[in-house]
Amino acid sequence: MKALLFSGGVESTCLAELEKPDLAITIDYGQVSAEGEIGAAAYIAKAIGFPHRVLRVQLGHLGSGDLVGRPALDGHEAPEHWPYRNQMLITIAAMALANENLESLSIGTVRSDRVHADGTLTFLSAMNALLRAQNPLLSLKAPAADWTTLELVERARVSRDLLGWTFSCHRSSIACGTCRGCSKTLSLFEALGSSQSSPLKSDVS
Ligand SMILES: [Zn+2]
Repeated sequence: MKALLFSGGVESTCLAELEKPDLAITIDYGQVSAEGEIGAAAYIAKAIGFPHRVLRVQLGHLGSGDLVGRPALDGHEAPEHWPYRNQMLITIAAMALANENLESLSIGTVRSDRVHADGTLTFLSAMNALLRAQNPLLSLKAPAADWTTLELVERARVSRDLLGWTFSCHRSSIACGTCRGCSKTLSLFEALGSSQSSPLKSDVS
């Protein structure tokens, strides 16, 4: 099985279009934006046409930054910084699918994610080795790790309408329009030259 970590954001939506996963997984790990992500992910999965599953594991008490409504640890430059977050998400998905012949797990990391220690090529390579140490048949894939989000969007050729259903807010289940996630999405739409339709949906359920 080829699975995709699917937050319902721009990057994982583009990867879904490129990779055609057998299953997309959205995880509610206690982030304040969980319901917004799940609503967007469910809609997009149905629109593109691939199976979608939601996992719920409440770990918000262990988090930091915008995603749990607290300051980022150590004053990190990215206000959504949550140490070990990708490691946790990859591990939870691998655990949940351990009995389902999982061959690859894809994550929508892009070049700008290198601001986080768990968005670097070093992390991705180490995490792949860690998974394979436990299951030699399993690989971690991050096909867009060297690309910008714009490059990924252009390669995936996702329709502008569908991009409008993506959800990337870090602070709420209703897009706030000002956090780094919302700002990146707005900048992307500006770069794509779309001024007529806002990417920010207040109700994606
Ligand atoms: Zn926001």
